[in-house]
Amino acid sequence: MKKVEIHPDAVEKVKKFTITDPQLGFGKYVAPIMVQALYDHGDWQRFDLLPYGPLQLDPCTKVLHYGQEIFEGMKVFRHPDERIFMFRPEMNARRFNHSARRMAMPEIPEDLFLESCETMSAYCKNIVPRRLGESLYLRPFMIATEVGLGIKPAKQFLFIIVASPSGSYFAGDSVKVYIERDEIRCAPGGVGSAKTGGNYAASLNSYTKTIKLGCDQTMWLDSQEHKYIEEMSGMNFFAVINGKLVTPSLTDTILDGVTRKSVIDIARSENIQVEERKISVDELLKLISEGKCTEAFVCGTAAVIAPIASFMDKDLSVHRLKEPAGKIAMQMREKLIAIQAGRTEAPEGWLYPIKDIKF
Ligand SMILES: *Cc1c(COP(=O)(O)O)cnc(C)c1O
Repeated sequence: MKKVEIHPDAVEKVKKFTITDPQLGFGKYVAPIMVQALYDHGDWQRFDLLPYGPLQLDPCTKVLHYGQEIFEGMKVFRHPDERIFMFRPEMNARRFNHSARRMAMPEIPEDLFLESCETMSAYCKNIVPRRLGESLYLRPFMIATEVGLGIKPAKQFLFIIVASPSGSYFAGDSVKVYIERDEIRCAPGGVGSAKTGGNYAASLNSYTKTIKLGCDQTMWLDSQEHKYIEEMSGMNFFAVINGKLVTPSLTDTILDGVTRKSVIDIARSENIQVEERKISVDELLKLISEGKCTEAFVCGTAAVIAPIASFMDKDLSVHRLKEPAGKIAMQMREKLIAIQAGRTEAPEGWLYPIKDIKF
């Protein structure tokens, strides 16, 4: 198998790197090293661990014009015994290749994806933060680097992993959701289930509106009837209805979240019923007004789980949840964080140990 080539100047950079700021924030600091791999002539050529630095791209590089780009987001945790672990990275490896296929980009063999993430994590071991809720956020991504304005799939690509020592994203604060009834994020047959920048680009106009209205997150509905709940721009959605967890069933317009899957697994292991089904936003608002939906939350790698305080509709009416920091949301959040941080036993295969490399 291909190995990641370690450059001594990268090792020097990471040895000298320290952060003194106790407020890590999210994505505020980046590790001084990165993994970089080149795809050309139909195969992955080499994988290098290099100092972090700017990319030099020809102005006609295809990604800049046609958006052939995919990414992942995953976390590395330090346990009380100082060992470090990635959380369910095989799921990210599989999803990265799902995104690659949809975007006409080359897949990366799962073992190479994992090896690259592990090498990055191993050399970042001293900057994986310690406090509960903190982690090293890994951002693997791929771009089309072939030069030319012709519209066709590129033949050259760059795969990169950068990392950011991060605190907790929303710090468990509850979020206000704006229901987007006009614009859509994606449509059936489109790229909604791929983690590609274009989906985020499509969400940003509505994000501006959401913030202007004093909300935090945009809720997307289906593209055909503008009726059924899909997800947030970067997080999946759950509601607690009559004591059961309800989440939209996966389709090709919903991103298959690792956190979503983990919440479902944890809930079932704690004998909480989970229903994956279509749910319309009008049904949800009615259930809230009848007191049958008492809490709701969003979930994703960055924020883990954030409870929803309220929904704002197109007519600016506000629908408040009875429990803005609901019992089940907080129970799921605490359990998931405890598993990730090694404070409680993890289900089989959820924690991927990072080998300790001396350097
Ligand atoms: C990444 C992402 C999520 C959350 O997925 P996780 O694997 O839980 O981080 C949800 N929705 C969209 C659109 C995303 O890009």
